[in-house]
This record gives sequence, structure tokens and C-alpha cells, in this order.
Amino acid sequence: MVDADKKVNVPPNFIRNIIIEDLERGKNEGRVHTRFPPEPNGYLHIGHAKSICLNFGLAHEFEGLCNLRFDDTNPLKEEEEYIRAIQEDVRWLEFDWEDRLFFASDYFDQLYEWAILLIKKGKAYVDDLNADEIREYRGTLTKPGKESPYRNRSVEENLDLFERMKAGEFKNGEKVLRAKIDMNSGNLNMRDPVMYRILHAPHPRIGDEWCIYPMYDWAHGQSDSIEGITHSICTLEFEDHRPLYDWFIRELDVHAPQQIEFARLDLTYTLLSKRKLLKLVQDKHVDGWDDPRMPTISGIRRRGYTPAAIRDFCERIGVAKSNSVVEISLLEHCLRENLNKTAPRVMAVLRPLKVVLTNYPADQVEELDAENNPEDPAMGKRKIPFCRELYIEQSDFMEDPPKKYFRLAPGREVRLKHAYIIKCEKVLKDPQSGEVTELHCSFDPDTRSGSSGEDRKVKGTLHWVSAPHAIQTEIRLYDHLFKSPDPNDVPEGEDFLSNLNPDSLEILNGMVEPSLQNAESGMRFQFLRHGYFCVDNKFSRPGKPVFNRTVSLRDSWARIQKNQNG
Ligand code: ATP
Ligand code: MG
Repeated sequence: MVDADKKVNVPPNFIRNIIIEDLERGKNEGRVHTRFPPEPNGYLHIGHAKSICLNFGLAHEFEGLCNLRFDDTNPLKEEEEYIRAIQEDVRWLEFDWEDRLFFASDYFDQLYEWAILLIKKGKAYVDDLNADEIREYRGTLTKPGKESPYRNRSVEENLDLFERMKAGEFKNGEKVLRAKIDMNSGNLNMRDPVMYRILHAPHPRIGDEWCIYPMYDWAHGQSDSIEGITHSICTLEFEDHRPLYDWFIRELDVHAPQQIEFARLDLTYTLLSKRKLLKLVQDKHVDGWDDPRMPTISGIRRRGYTPAAIRDFCERIGVAKSNSVVEISLLEHCLRENLNKTAPRVMAVLRPLKVVLTNYPADQVEELDAENNPEDPAMGKRKIPFCRELYIEQSDFMEDPPKKYFRLAPGREVRLKHAYIIKCEKVLKDPQSGEVTELHCSFDPDTRSGSSGEDRKVKGTLHWVSAPHAIQTEIRLYDHLFKSPDPNDVPEGEDFLSNLNPDSLEILNGMVEPSLQNAESGMRFQFLRHGYFCVDNKFSRPGKPVFNRTVSLRDSWARIQKNQNG
């Protein structure tokens, strides 16, 4: 489990209340045992983080256990790469399944035996209808189902055919095993669901041992039962599957986990469907599953998110019984709160404009003191070089500024952070384009920060870097991957791809202070007046960091809240 100080507090919610009641009644001998059951057919996303925090969080709170179990029943879509990545992501969120890493494929023998038991009880049969026919016969919510002509095969015939399915005598799709329940049920899941299908395909974990594979609905509940899970927490779309899971458990007469459904996380400007995320990866709309614009755990990790911010977010959104969409600005707010306390502040110029201090000695370099985080004096200070040639931000100068512009302009003064007050004396321009190329300024030697001259006040304070000392680096700015709050909201005949934001990535050549030269992959900083940035773990080279903007400083969530509170 996570350290006590890192643990997720699951705030009161209906699932927690059910567990408390169960414990009071002495159900499950006072045990609480949950699991996080991903299918290894893609990378985990922030929606899965909600489920992970809930399952591991509840187990932690009630001194129970939480398993990690891969529901690996579909060899066509599942890969070893996903199994590895999912474990890395859960660990990164700082949850620990200890020695309880399981796979549904561990239970294939048991599931096969149980299928035979159901056949012997007359509760399962081999069907020769093909997939289309099965769909056709199933009917709809308004149309009753129709029984398959093979539904009443004898137990002996079913046993024989099922064994031969397993032995590889039939081709893909030629036969299936179905539960014999009720073709007139109001719940379509109960109309003789398929339990096994024939798939001549090797399994990523157990090779070509099997050519029949259990369907998810047959494997999932039984896997929970085998592991002694007490509370099977899942998302709302499985509510209609619960009667089927209960039916299997009853017919097999085995331990009955209690399924509880909650609303899945949905976020504005974000898609949380592995199928659609896979499409973005396969069609190269993004640079892999860990592209910093992806809502995957590996993407937001690369972007610079912290595990603490994600856990805080999952705590704040709570757990409900009906679907809703959460503002992505809340996630960003949690991140800023966390990074504000932990990320050292440094100076970086994203779009440089050269400044020459004409009254500063050409060969002089001063080492100025700069605090690393005013929120936390324990983070100490560092030295930053100051000299005659500097860079400031292009947007911090205007030749003809409007009234409330307090940055640099001809004849105006500003303070350079941690340094001196300077005054703009002359503007140099490109004769052809008219573009400003350089500023000549004077500095006031009596105004050095940290000295008594610090008291002289001017309205604007700018960040800067020393031109000969700065490190030129690639800085990558990100915006939402989708233009619209609901990426699926598209005109008829189009799909979510038409909502892709063409400006979601902007690559700049910036200048950062020299202390960042050896910043290592994953290190996070606040670039003063810009936002939070993280050293990219893919494009950075030793001595040549590349920075991802994690999130800007502007906090639209705080504004939303302020407006709500009047
Ligand atoms: P997707 O629809 O993206 O493919 P999934 O539900 O099929 O997701 P699984 O690997 O089966 O993905 O999910 C593992 C667990 O995570 C399940 O218990 C599932 O209910 C939960 N989960 C998946 N997506 C979300 C979400 N958006 N919010 C909360 N929990 C989720
Ligand atoms: Mg699923």
C-alpha cells in the first residue's frame, strides 16, 4: 500500500457506505478484497486512475487487499507491451499489489472445467449458428429472441462437441458454447450469451495452448470469485451484466463477489476510450501512447503530471452513480496546487529579444542570488549570471504600448527579477521588415535586488536570461488535443478526428538559465511567469534538455469557482 502520508482518502461515497455496512454485518468474515482488472489492449488513461485510486484506496482504508488482474481473454487485441506498461503506470501512481498479480488466463483450466459442469447440468450448449445468425436470433429490446435449432442438443453431444472444439477440430466461428438461460429475457445479456469462441490464435502469455477462448462476461465474474474478491467495483455499463454474473455464480455455487457500479470518469476536451486512443496512435495523429497530449497515464507522466496531483484529483471528483463530465480545468488546478509547492522556480525566455545594457562593463559577470521557491525557503537559493547582454521575452516589449502595459517600452523602466532596474533607451529594428531586433538599455547600479536599493519601485518585473550563458533549448507547448469540449460532438458522417486541434503542439527554440543545463528527464520546474515545465524523457539528451509545458500558470478553475461563489 502507499505510505500513510500518500494514501488516498476515499471521501464518503455510496460504495464506501456499502462496505461499512457489510463489515458491520460481518459479511465476508470481515474481509475487504478488491481488484483493478484492466484488459491489456491499450495503455491506461486518467479514467483508469479513478478506478485504481478507488479500488486500492478502499482496500487501504479498510485494511484489506487489492489485486492487479489482467482480464486477458482476447488474444487478438492484447499485447505483452500493454501488460508491462500497465504495471509501470499503477506503480507510478504509488499503489502496490504486492504478490497479487493475476491473469484471467491463469484460470483457463478452471473455467473450462466449470463450462463442462454447466453442460452437464444442461445449462450450456454448443451452437452452430454463426455470429450474424446469433445476433439475428437474439432479437432486440422490443423483439423477443428466437431459440437456436441447436439449443436442445443432448448433454453427451454437447460434451463431445465442446471437447472437439478445444481439440482444434473446428475452424474459427464454426461453433460456440452458449449459456442456456432465457431467449425471452428482457435483459439481452441473458439471451443465451456466448461463453466460448473458437480462435486459432496464440495467446500473448500462454502461447498456443488454447484455440477456444472464454468471453469476457464468462471469465470476469468467475475470476473475481476465484480470487475471493468481496466487492467487484466496476463502471455503470456493467449494471446490465450483473444478472448474468450472478446467474453464473449461482449455477456454479461458488463464492459470490458483490458487484457495485459507479460512473466512469469523463473529462472535457478529452477522449477516454482505448479504442479511440489506439486509433490516434495507429494513424499517427500523436507520437505514441505516451505523447504528452494523450490522457494516458504515460502521456501525462511525460507531460510532467505528478502522481500526487492525479490522486488528489481522483479524491476531489468523488464517486457517483450517474454519469457526468468533469472540467479538465479541475485536473489542471490540482496539478498547479501540487507543483506550486514542489517545483523550483527558474527563468526561461520562450521567444527571445536581445537587450544590451550600454552602461554595463563589457567583461563583467555578476553572480546574483535567486531563491528557488518563495513558497518553501528550505528549497534554498542558486546563483544566476548577469552581464551586459541579456534576453527578455519579445512580448515584454512594446514600442507603442497601451495605457495599462507595465512592461518595457521606449523611455520606460522595469525591474529585472533578482537583478536591477533597467530603462529602455533605444530600439533597433530590421531595416527591411521593421521588426524589433534589439534593445539598448541602461541599468541603475543602485537598484540591485537584495541591496538597500531594492526599495525603488517600478511597476513591472520581467524574467530574463544572460545571453552568453543561456542554454538554447527546445520548448514544447501543448494545448488540448481536441478543439471541442466534447470531442465526439461532430457533424453527421464525421468522427472525433474532425475535432482534432491542429494547434495542440507548438515547438519553440527558447533560452533557459544555465542551471538547467543538466536537468534530468522528468525533473519539473516553474518557468517564472510562464507555467510548469518538465524535462522530456524521450527527446532530451545529456546536457541538452527538451522541455514540455505541463500546464500554464493561468488557472481557469479558480476563476470558475470564484464566479460560482459570487
Ligand atoms: P475503455 O472503454 O477505455 O476501453 P475499459 O473499461 O474497456 O476502457 P478496462 O481495461 O476493462 O478498460 O478497464 C479496467 C477498469 O477500469 C474497469 O474496472 C473499468 O470499469 C475501469 N475504467 C475504465 N475506464 C474508466 C473511466 N473512464 N472511469 C472510471 N473507471 C474506468
Ligand atoms: Mg472493459
